[in-house]
Amino acid sequence: MKLIQMQCNRCQGKLVWHPDFGSIEACVYCFHLWDENSNLSRKDDRVECYTPETFAMALDVLEFTTRPHIESAITFALKAVEIASMLGVEELEMRAQLIHAEIMIRKGLLAEGGRILQKISGWAESHPHAYISARAHRHLSVFFQCLGDLPRALEHALHSCQLLPNDARPQIRGNHLLLMGCILARSREYEEANRSFQETLDIALETNQLQIALITLNNMAYAQYEMGNTEEATGIIERLREFGQKHGLPLNPRILDTIARVEILRGRYEESERTLQAVIDRQLDRLVNEFEMLPECFITAAMAQRLQGAYGRSQATLDEALRLCEEHGFAGYQVNIMEEQAELYAASGRYREAYEEFRRFHAESEKLRSKEREARAKVLQAVFETEEAKRASEYYRNLAFRDPLTGLYNRRYIDMQVDEWIRLSVVSGAPLSIVLLDLDHFKQINDTLSHEIGDTVLIHVAKILEAAAEEPKAAARIGGEEFLIVLPGYDSKQALAYAEELCHTIRSMDWCPITGTLKVTASMGISTFSDGLSRSRLLTLADNNLYQAKRAGRNRVVG
Ligand code: GH3
Ligand code: MG
Ligand code: MG
Repeated sequence: MKLIQMQCNRCQGKLVWHPDFGSIEACVYCFHLWDENSNLSRKDDRVECYTPETFAMALDVLEFTTRPHIESAITFALKAVEIASMLGVEELEMRAQLIHAEIMIRKGLLAEGGRILQKISGWAESHPHAYISARAHRHLSVFFQCLGDLPRALEHALHSCQLLPNDARPQIRGNHLLLMGCILARSREYEEANRSFQETLDIALETNQLQIALITLNNMAYAQYEMGNTEEATGIIERLREFGQKHGLPLNPRILDTIARVEILRGRYEESERTLQAVIDRQLDRLVNEFEMLPECFITAAMAQRLQGAYGRSQATLDEALRLCEEHGFAGYQVNIMEEQAELYAASGRYREAYEEFRRFHAESEKLRSKEREARAKVLQAVFETEEAKRASEYYRNLAFRDPLTGLYNRRYIDMQVDEWIRLSVVSGAPLSIVLLDLDHFKQINDTLSHEIGDTVLIHVAKILEAAAEEPKAAARIGGEEFLIVLPGYDSKQALAYAEELCHTIRSMDWCPITGTLKVTASMGISTFSDGLSRSRLLTLADNNLYQAKRAGRNRVVG
């Protein structure tokens, strides 16, 4: 087995490489691109055999080097697996197989990759081997993200960070933190996501991983965009641009899309369109590792054009987006195109077509979702065949969904499900109501009795809610002494009657053994979904009504 040691003349990073792994396009430490007469010097041209120590060093590099070309990445991974099994060191075999599994997942071979991960995860836990365990959790997190199962992805991402040994290389820590940040952001946990991103950014800058820094900045900007924080998003985008320029890193379509969206947020529609012009004209295709990104850029551009009133241009861009999807088979984006198409019809006064497109969008989303669910079930069955493994995965899922004190659903679950409830309501035409509940003068219970007694009260209230919220209803604890009940199929009148009764049940329970003379009551605000109402408006309405109930003297319902 042959091995070459090389040194980057720029950062002095040493690299151990096997010629079978192919040529190296850039230094894996500073990402400096090498040209013909290269910044790379062959430190030691000696040809030698891999020892477990030198192979471990090669794995160190492979573990955080993302190769843009998937086929060559697979060749590398298979080679690594072969070398590891020849060396016969189990730990190295597991590490090599992990690299292989990750690439399979990137390639869309979910069941195959998932099965390997499941096996390695079991090996790491029985040995135990914290580093390999952490890596397996990281890749399982990607696996579940690909399946669209965010809570489970998040759970594995958390484990992947917690289990990582303190002496793990900073690049690997950054690699785990970045993934966790992305999943937190997708789960709308923006504050926490930001903390992960910030830490990733610090590591990336310290270790000179410029590409990672760029990707992290992009994620930070996107999270601020999603939160609607125009100023913060703008600040990060400026930083992104400067950073790219300073280090000669081109901005890929994914980053340009973020920039364009923030420009829309700022009301600068023309600038937004201009930002994406090169993508639309297909001048940046060489920077595109994932062609899947293109339709999204087109949709953003169409939005920018629509908002300028350039309806013809916007329509042409949307048509092109649809063509791209058909050409490459990106089924997922077609619904996003429909949504933008409906907006475009509405903007140009074609209300009937807008309405029909909107219905079509909801129906298609529903179909897509059920197709995804089916695919997910199939893969999961292939990966988690044994009962034990199934139970373990259910256990993780429950952890992510439940509030530890009361056992009710948590806010994360509600955030995840609320769009689904809204969609079902739109598609089926059945009404949907929510009840926001806050205990009255709860601080007083804590202050005059104790925090423990406060907890006991919360547990008892949760029991009442649980009993009152059988499927398909759902009860969640979304804050300290704040709860939410979702009532599918309830119109505003039915929701009011339901909440009145609940209010009565809480008030008339015999609290004496727990709180003595202190009363336990709750105030509630109701809101009911109607067409065109956004999820945030739905929640705000309930919140406003709850506030009214408090102001009017508490222990009552406002609908
Ligand atoms: P209001 O009627 O206006 O809602 O008054 P309040 O006292 O209920 O409202 P406030 O928001 O001032 O206080 C809520 C209290 O809930 C403050 C906090 O100490 C307490 N709390 C939050 N989480 C927990 C918890 O997990 N356990 C206990 N025991 N108390 C909690
Ligand atoms: Mg409160
Ligand atoms: Mg309260």
